[in-house]
Amino acid sequence: MNIILLGPPGAGKGTQARHLVETRGMVQLSTGDMLREAKDSGTEMGNIVAEVMAKGQLVTDEIVIGLIREKLESKEGSGFIFDGFPRTLAQADALGELLAAEGEALDAVIEMEVDDDALVARITARSTCGTCGEVYNDNTKPIPADGHCVKCGGTEFKRRADDNEESLRTRLMEYYKKTSPLIGYYYAKGDLSKIDGLAPIQEVQSSIAGVLDK
Ligand code: AMP
Repeated sequence: MNIILLGPPGAGKGTQARHLVETRGMVQLSTGDMLREAKDSGTEMGNIVAEVMAKGQLVTDEIVIGLIREKLESKEGSGFIFDGFPRTLAQADALGELLAAEGEALDAVIEMEVDDDALVARITARSTCGTCGEVYNDNTKPIPADGHCVKCGGTEFKRRADDNEESLRTRLMEYYKKTSPLIGYYYAKGDLSKIDGLAPIQEVQSSIAGVLDK
């Protein structure tokens, strides 16, 4: 089964993808994580995308499609969760072609609906464990007082460089201009399911399970 988690920054795509990896053995393909890795390891591509990402703009279709192509062609694992990809119509078309070339198909596109005020509040309060990636929120799920991650015991926590109000505004604008048309695109293809992304995490997990087990 291959699915897309679709939604604006802060909708909870990464958190839900991680849960599906743990509970269903699916494989998370997050272009944001791949690009951050490239940036941190100082590869040529990483240096090219660093500034674009810091501003909250979208990296070129060519680069991200290339990253996804590599993953799909390497055939490492099956049952993909596309998290943060596709973000443009060109990427959506490319994904359809790449999956078809591998004899695969898309089984569901899950739109995580959230309101904009909640996104800003979530993103400016979020941090992650530097070891395992567990997501924390200053208001709703603070880092434990003893400074140890609840999942892995790690003691280093990170905030994303682009989780600030200014780049968030650009990221939201990019989402509404370039990514939100995908909602209509996948609706027309008959692939779209909408869920309430603002519900408590466990309820969101159940809604997603409901779509996958349909
Ligand atoms: P994310 O972790 O998904 O929020 O992505 C972080 C940043 O990486 C975005 O703001 C973009 O600059 C870049 N990025 C991630 N995925 C894509 C994509 N599919 N297309 C273009 N840029 C992307």
